[in-house]
Formats: sequence, structure tokens, C-alpha cells
Amino acid sequence: MDLSKITEQFTESIIRDMTRVALEHPGSINLAQGFPDFPAPESIKQAAIEAINKDMNQYAVTWGTAPLREAIAAKTLRHNHIKADPHKNITVTCGATEGMMASLRAIINPGDEIIIFEPFYENYGPDCLLSGATPRYIRFSPPDWSFDFNELERIFNAKTKAIIINTPNNPTGKVFSEKELRFIAGLCIKNDAIAVTDEIYEHILFDGHRHLSIASFPEMEERSITINSISKTYSLTGWRVGWVIASDRITREIRKVHDFLTVGAAAPLQAGAAFALSLGEDYYRWLTEFYQNARDTLCSSLQETDLHPYKPAGAYYIMCECADLIRQYKLQNSLELAFFLVKSIGIATVPGSSFYSNPRYGQFIIRFCFCKNPETLQKAQTYLSKIPKATPDRGI
Ligand code: GLN
Repeated sequence: MDLSKITEQFTESIIRDMTRVALEHPGSINLAQGFPDFPAPESIKQAAIEAINKDMNQYAVTWGTAPLREAIAAKTLRHNHIKADPHKNITVTCGATEGMMASLRAIINPGDEIIIFEPFYENYGPDCLLSGATPRYIRFSPPDWSFDFNELERIFNAKTKAIIINTPNNPTGKVFSEKELRFIAGLCIKNDAIAVTDEIYEHILFDGHRHLSIASFPEMEERSITINSISKTYSLTGWRVGWVIASDRITREIRKVHDFLTVGAAAPLQAGAAFALSLGEDYYRWLTEFYQNARDTLCSSLQETDLHPYKPAGAYYIMCECADLIRQYKLQNSLELAFFLVKSIGIATVPGSSFYSNPRYGQFIIRFCFCKNPETLQKAQTYLSKIPKATPDRGI
């Protein structure tokens, strides 16, 4: 009996698999899947506990509780300069993951194409396939992860329905510039396409980089889908609360998909999320500073090894060139290196091959996450010091 020809085309997530591998190696440090190992703010937890104590135990309104949608609208206006009507433009989802899937299913028809920058967060490939679209890839080039404007212009065509933009970017740490976003906006308008943006790392920015939402350009209001969540900003990845902001027309379709996929996100956790979104600017300043220190700590530990890190401008991952280390350990590629590192050094990572359409493109790259408390990163430094350094630092 045939099973789905679509699901046959992709594997399970390597990111989440590496977490399982880390758990099989007690004492190892999980720098693979991006989730914090420190507590979320106490006040947010209390807000959710209070909701449970008040018996908020039944389904919330399918597209999210009114207080959460209002909090999302207020925060999005304040930080992203996007005007969203809580009644018509916001859908609360089970994390940004469901938000992306519901959005693509709401806009795609058979034969449509979706443009994806690679390396890309591994969900986007299966998201495209499951929504019935054909992914088209365009490469970022290190060290600054820029892309070729002419190439992007050539990839856009009459079949292009959407382009996925993830800024700040996982896994590269790239923060899209205003020039890049304006160029993409121009191509979306010219080709009647939609910009689907995943902005979950919007508050994790370094060295003065600024986050910009493409939906804040007036000409993009009707053709943008902005996805976000509480996971990374408030260190609540397990709560699975995210949201999607789009025009009235697109939102109507997204809400239908969301309704039949999940009915809704956990009601008491939506109360906690609404509280989280009301935190003041001090919280975001603390977050940025905390992660800038974490980035610098892990980058310097990596520079002491034969891994050559690219310093990220945002998000909480570091991509490293690992060809020298692969050679030294007489391995073949980043997948083998990732398994070697967790078994022999005690650090779980994600092989670069899982972020490319063709695994060969990422065979000499490996990703480390740094969303960890300083003690974990100190321990990681001790473990990393077991890695030889035979080649000079390349200063990347
Ligand atoms: N964004 C995280 C990462 O790239 C993982 C998220 C997830 O597993 N849902 O590691």
C-alpha cells in the first residue's frame, strides 16, 4: 500500500533528532536544538498559573483570546510599526511552526512556487511540500550571508506565490537590511507574490543591528504575512504559542486552516503570553545584552579550536566552517562530525547539511546554539578545548 508521496520526500527533523541523541549521551551539552536552559521570567509563569487556578481550562476562541490578540496588536505597533486589527488581522497559533504551515496552506495552489533563502531553518522545505508548493532556493554567501539581487530577480516568475524571509535568520544570524527588504518588496509587487516572514528572533540582535518588518512598508501591507511567537523572546519554547498577522482576506483563510488543524493554542498559556507581551523595554534590553555576552563567549571558545565561526548579527546560532576538523578526525562530512562531537567531546550540534536543499552544500558547516546560561557555556568551553587547533584563526 502506498503511503503519502509527499511525506516520502523529507526526513524527520535533524535538529530535533540531535536533541534525542544528546539525551542518549548523559553529561553532554545540547547546543543543537535552539532552546534556553534557564528559567523564563517568573512574572510570566505566574500569569499562566493564575489562569489555571481561575479554571481557564476550556477551549479559547479558535483564533486566540481577545486579551492576547490585543496585546499582540499593541506590541506589533510599538516594535514593528505594523497596524493590525486584533479582530481581523491576528490568528494565534500553536507556535510559529503551525503559523507557517497554516499560512502556506492558506495561500498555495498546486503548481505554485515558494522562494527560500538557503541555508534555511529546516521546517521550511517540508512546509512547502506539505502545502503543495515547489520550493525554489537562492543561496546566501558567507561571511555576511548576502545574496545576489540579480539571481533573486531571475528566480521570481509567474508561478512564484511567496517568498519566505526569516530575519534575524536561523541558522546564519543574518539580519536583512532595509535595502534588501525593499528590493524583495519590489519583486513581490512586480510578480504579485506574498512575503511570508518569520520574525521570531526580532529581539535578539547584536552590534547595533536593527530589525525591520517588511509588512511595515505601506505597499506591502496587503501582501505580507508576519509570523512571530513567544518562544525565543520570552524563553518559552515549550508553551507553543505563536501568531500570524495578515490582511483581512488572507487572515480569513489562515483562520480556517488553523481551526481545522489544531482548534487553538493552550488557553491558560495564552493568558501568560498576553502578560509577556506587556513587559517593558527593560526586558528587551536585558535580553539583547544577555545574548550578546553569550554569543561572544561561545565565539571565542570556538575560535580557539579548528572550527571557524562566522559571527552572527542576530538570532542565537553560530555557523562554523568545519572542513579542517573533518580532515583532522578523518571524517567525511558535517553529519559525521556532529555524531563524533556528541559522542567524543560531549557537545551536540546540528550538521550544516540539514539547512540546505542539497546536503552537500552544507557538508563542511556545523551549527552551534548559544541560548544557554553562562555556566553551560563555560562547561562547553572546557569540552571544546579538547578539540585540536592546527590551522590559524581565519578571522571570520
Ligand atoms: N528553532 C530551533 C532550532 O533551529 C528549533 C525549533 C524547533 O525544534 N521547533 O534549533
